[in-house]
Amino acid sequence: MNKDIIQPPEQCNVAIIGAGPSGLAAATELKKLGVESVIVLEREAQAGGIPRHCMHSPFGLREFKRLYNGKTYANELSRRAIKNGVIICLKSSVIAINKGGILELSTPTGIRTLIAQKVIICTGIRETPRANRLISGQRPMGVLTSGALQSIIHLKHKKPFQRPVIIGTEMVSFSSLLSCRYAGIQPVAMLEKNARITAKWGLQILAKLLGVPIFYKTCLDNIIGKKEVEAVKINIGCAAVKKNSEAIKKVLPCDGVIFTGEFIAESSLLRMGHLDVDPSTGNPVIDQFGRCSDNDYFATGNMTHPVETAGYCWKQGRQTAKQVYASLKGELDQYQRRIHIISTNPIIKYIIPQILTLTVKGDYQSGKHITMNGFQIRVSKAVKGRLSIRSGAKTLVQKKINSLPERRINLEFPSSILSEKDDADIPLQLHFENR
Ligand SMILES: Cc1cc2nc3c(=O)[nH]c(=O)nc-3n(C[C@H](O)[C@H](O)[C@H](O)COP(=O)(O)OP(=O)(O)OC[C@H]3O[C@@H](n4cnc5c(N)ncnc54)[C@H](O)[C@@H]3O)c2cc1C
Repeated sequence: MNKDIIQPPEQCNVAIIGAGPSGLAAATELKKLGVESVIVLEREAQAGGIPRHCMHSPFGLREFKRLYNGKTYANELSRRAIKNGVIICLKSSVIAINKGGILELSTPTGIRTLIAQKVIICTGIRETPRANRLISGQRPMGVLTSGALQSIIHLKHKKPFQRPVIIGTEMVSFSSLLSCRYAGIQPVAMLEKNARITAKWGLQILAKLLGVPIFYKTCLDNIIGKKEVEAVKINIGCAAVKKNSEAIKKVLPCDGVIFTGEFIAESSLLRMGHLDVDPSTGNPVIDQFGRCSDNDYFATGNMTHPVETAGYCWKQGRQTAKQVYASLKGELDQYQRRIHIISTNPIIKYIIPQILTLTVKGDYQSGKHITMNGFQIRVSKAVKGRLSIRSGAKTLVQKKINSLPERRINLEFPSSILSEKDDADIPLQLHFENR
């Protein structure tokens, strides 16, 4: 066994699952606050999470006021964590979570158990692969997600294809474009089912500068090729845009397919465990402190809200660490009345937190104990209208929105929810009305 790999102990104050930006930030902050033993468990052989295989910038501006590429940034996060006394156990996968902070681990020396007073889940995200997108056709080699592409190029130093087609136009799709450029790969096109790119306006110019056309209102129909990808069949004017329109089918020669984005939480651990999970997203149900349905567990980073930048997740990790520290000292014990926020419109992709926990008096924030500034919401398609949080017929807070999919919408928490006599079990409703 590699002598650099540290074996997890049997007990600790706080165990953190995942050594990405959010996990390492939380761990470093907990050590700075004076917590004695903070253990980070990471399934890979290197700490740093997704940025490990991002050779591009920008990383680190918010956190360190420096401009790093992903790999250097990941190293810097690990260096600072270790310097502050965090123990990072690599090649240690958490395979089960149980009540009482009991974690089952698969490590280089076998299956072990770690008992933690508090656990923070920071397992990040993954992109939706081909199978989940229900893309038909043959099953050749050369069909990847952008995360897999980056690790093949930057960690294994290989070139999987020469002329792939990129599916999607999220931020990460343009990041794939840059990875291709780095490896000397020339994509033949990017496909976007809507009439504009999903990433912020302006990035389409990058594709143009790199000589890659974007086909709008176009979907992937199927993949052609026995051993290797030979072409893809595409639908121009696809049903996602105009339900009754006749899509034109066209064969586009290429030698690879990169599925980008459509991020989902890396929540396999949650599905097998005892924590409440949001059925529509698979994300853990958390309260305003980032606390899960079992008060010994917290969740932070991208696994609570696919997908934000590394800097955003780093900040969220630090904030969650403060709440975990308060929880270790028993300061959050008074927040026990759970009130759910239920969405009444399928346009709402998700809302976090999904619950607010209140004190007996009905307080849910008390200055120093607040993790989030308000709700974070995303919608599944471009919308204009009004969002509101209601308690029965009473509107507690509302906001006009004009939003595209994959954009974060912030909605402030209502200033008061309940009086002492009210029943905290009645959920609040999140409404959306078209303008
Ligand atoms: C291709 C791509 C390019 C990006 N480019 C940028 C960019 O240029 N700038 C930017 O700011 N952001 C960028 N991002 C976003 C940024 O990488 C993420 O926001 C950030 O990494 C999220 O941090 P995290 O800690 O929440 O999760 P992650 O970085 O995903 O870390 C999660 C960690 O948990 C580990 N893990 C998962 N399950 C287990 C388990 N059961 N046991 C143990 N360990 C486990 C994983 O191995 C991983 O190391 C990019 C994202 C992608 C996918």
